[in-house]
Amino acid sequence: MSHPSLRPVTTARPPITTTLFDFFKVGPGPSSSHTIGPMKAACDFLDLCRALPSDTLARAEALRVELLGSLSATGIGHGTNVAVLAGLLGSQPETCPGDVLTSLGRDPDARHDVSIGGKTLSVGLADVVFGPVAHDAPFSNTLRAFLLDAGGRSLFEREYYSVGGGFIQWQGWTPPERGKPRYPYGTMQELRGHLAKTGLTLHELMLENETAITGMSRPAIYERLDEIMEAMYDSVRRGLAATGKLPGTLGVWRKAASLLDHAKQMPIAVDRFLAKLSAYAFAVAEENASGGVIVTAPTCGAAGVMPALLYSMRNDMNIGERALREGVLASAAVGFLAKHNAGIAGAEVGCQGEVGVAASMSAAMLAHARGCAIADVENAAEIALEHHLGLTCDPVGGYVQIPCIERNSVGAIKAYSAMLIATCEESFQHKVTLDAVISAMGETGREMSNKFKETSEGGLAVSIVEC
Ligand code: SF4
Repeated sequence: MSHPSLRPVTTARPPITTTLFDFFKVGPGPSSSHTIGPMKAACDFLDLCRALPSDTLARAEALRVELLGSLSATGIGHGTNVAVLAGLLGSQPETCPGDVLTSLGRDPDARHDVSIGGKTLSVGLADVVFGPVAHDAPFSNTLRAFLLDAGGRSLFEREYYSVGGGFIQWQGWTPPERGKPRYPYGTMQELRGHLAKTGLTLHELMLENETAITGMSRPAIYERLDEIMEAMYDSVRRGLAATGKLPGTLGVWRKAASLLDHAKQMPIAVDRFLAKLSAYAFAVAEENASGGVIVTAPTCGAAGVMPALLYSMRNDMNIGERALREGVLASAAVGFLAKHNAGIAGAEVGCQGEVGVAASMSAAMLAHARGCAIADVENAAEIALEHHLGLTCDPVGGYVQIPCIERNSVGAIKAYSAMLIATCEESFQHKVTLDAVISAMGETGREMSNKFKETSEGGLAVSIVEC
């Protein structure tokens, strides 16, 4: 008989078809939904324009993008307009130079040439406008892109949605055709069922599904996974080497290098370990805040949590390369479930979907890499997410700095703590499933006021009078 306070979680949703490399994306911060997604959308629009009939292109005179909802409310602080301009000039998040946003944003009045079908148009930041925060599109993070004639009439347009984690959709979007997962699941309960039936480990099942969906061979998956992990380590190293103030009007100092210096001198081992872990998380979150290249895990805002723990597992816990890779694969299962059943964008479900999910993924990664049973891996992920429930997204001034940078550090420590609790308790005594906590996160996010969903209109964002 089930406990009366625990609702059974059922799903009629189709199985998850998200892939590892849809999910872990390399690109410039500070916000996957506000920089990577809009940059991809703008670049996609450029490609579509280039494919238009020549008589349409002959009349084209200008490009224009309107930012709506959260993209408008916090777009300045996030550099969304600069990311869109970079996309209109053909930049892709994975391949753009690390400082593209800084260099393009330096001169707000600069004009740039972009060639479209033999025609050269001039674009600049003035062509990316901040529209209404309230709108009736299906996603808060909406942008409308237009190709205009000399009279300002639309020749071609598309409405895009930046749906979190750097994913984009558009009006009329349908999911791309791809292979079917070998072991279909939409919930942890279904995933657990496959593992029990087949005897596979979690990372093996993830690999099997990745191959079935994408057609990638195992060596190709490993190679790309190693690149993603190397990008994570890089972001830690770059952040630890940087000093000075972050961009923006808040005047926030980078602290990662100084935290690490202090940590190394601490006489108590546990202080040393936790302070180093914090320094690693600060390092990546500060890189993200300065528009540097990071990995979405699951988003830019929360990009410091998982690399911090991964870097610590490699350098401070001496966990081997194979176990690290397997841990990352296990973490992806948790991220996929959260994305599929609730959301991973601050603008949709608050920070519980960003730092909360990052902590949950990280707890699973650590538990799996340490060889824990699947019940402990699930419980570690559940505990880490449970204690982020209700967490709002209220970045001060629209910058992904306060509270985001410290929050990444606290998220990494919570992930470590969740793994400890899960592995110290009897797993059968654990009352809350991962499915239940993800469902609770989704419900909490849906009920959360928009003031607390990346609009900077409530909470800490309006509580700081002077910085
Ligand atoms: S508060 Fe959390 S969700 Fe919001 S921008 Fe910062 S890290 Fe992202």
